[in-house]
Amino acid sequence: MDLLVVGSGFFGLTIAERAASAGKRVVVIDRRSHIGGNAYSEAEPETGIEVHRYGAHLFHTSNETVWEYVNRFTTFTNYVHKVYSNFKDEVYPLPINLGTINQFFRAAYGPQQARELIAEQAEEFDTKSAQNLEEKGISLIGRPLYEAFIRDYTAKQWQTPTTDLPAEIISRLPVRYTYDNRYFNDTHEGLPTDGYTAWLERMADHPNIEVRLDTDFFDESQPLNKRAVVGTVPIVYTGPVDRYFDYAEGELGWRTLDFEQEVLPVGDFQGTSVMNYAGADVPYTRIHEFRHFHPEREYPTDKTVIMREFSRFATRDDEPYYPVNTPEDRDRLLKYRQLTEGESNVLFGGRLGTYQYLDMHMAIGSALSMYNNKLADLL
Ligand code: UDP
Repeated sequence: MDLLVVGSGFFGLTIAERAASAGKRVVVIDRRSHIGGNAYSEAEPETGIEVHRYGAHLFHTSNETVWEYVNRFTTFTNYVHKVYSNFKDEVYPLPINLGTINQFFRAAYGPQQARELIAEQAEEFDTKSAQNLEEKGISLIGRPLYEAFIRDYTAKQWQTPTTDLPAEIISRLPVRYTYDNRYFNDTHEGLPTDGYTAWLERMADHPNIEVRLDTDFFDESQPLNKRAVVGTVPIVYTGPVDRYFDYAEGELGWRTLDFEQEVLPVGDFQGTSVMNYAGADVPYTRIHEFRHFHPEREYPTDKTVIMREFSRFATRDDEPYYPVNTPEDRDRLLKYRQLTEGESNVLFGGRLGTYQYLDMHMAIGSALSMYNNKLADLL
């Protein structure tokens, strides 16, 4: 073995594939019983509908290098993601656009009038100097829209005061003064034509790659455990960085998600793939209806699969999804970064290994950079 990769998500598989293609022998271990990390998907047995087991994954990128790379393993459909939000039993388009504004204010404003109205409603905070999510949100869309579509949804999603959350979270949501309600701004977008798992398996399908599932890096009864291998072979570790150091600097805060999946005896439940629920009165943040991710497929017309998504603080035993990133978390992260620098021949990557919210294309892009800039020379 020339390289051990801990974790078989997009970051780990990209590293493994690059090294294997350069003639190196790679072992990938994962404590789960399937590859792919949270991008894994599978057919729901009763309906055959592809379900993203760890929440909906939408691929999009403006990075040409990443786009060229991913197209080596899969083609993409022409799916364009759109999200709607149910606020007080009325459905509005997201991200906040001219359609949302006119529906909310029962008006027929043009772009200029809408800009003026929002500027007036947003004047209590300045976007550039906004200190936290609340100030940033209000500065971008004004208080009434913020309170309707952002405040309570964010409270459900983060259970952290919006004044303690970093302003960047909301930068992911564009505001548009047109009727364009594409959720993402990227040049390339689509879903893998034959599913995420087929794509992930093709990345791992190389004679130089051996994947060992159900294999926990910290389990000393299996031979490739941390104590036995660190220092003997280059390692790319994509698990939680605090776990690697046995939580020496304290635990980093994560959000986890709980999903309630249901097969319903109707052909179409909500007419779209993702419906957010803005209000505090509904306990879930959104409902996914998976058939709508693949309108080109022949799915049963009398059944559908929906999944309600709930968000809460993660304990050590939960799957970490979103870094909370409070000021205390950021202090701890700096200490962990110093520790990682002292680990010779171990590189830390991916969402868990760097404590960063990475979209799939970012994880792949950062793995390609790590391989080219650091790892290739080490191997
Ligand atoms: N958000 C919100 N209302 C919505 C959708 C998003 O307030 O209807 C905020 C919320 O704080 C969320 C952030 O925008 O955490 C990012 O949303 P996105 O849909 O990009 O999150 P993801 O799909 O990654 O969970």
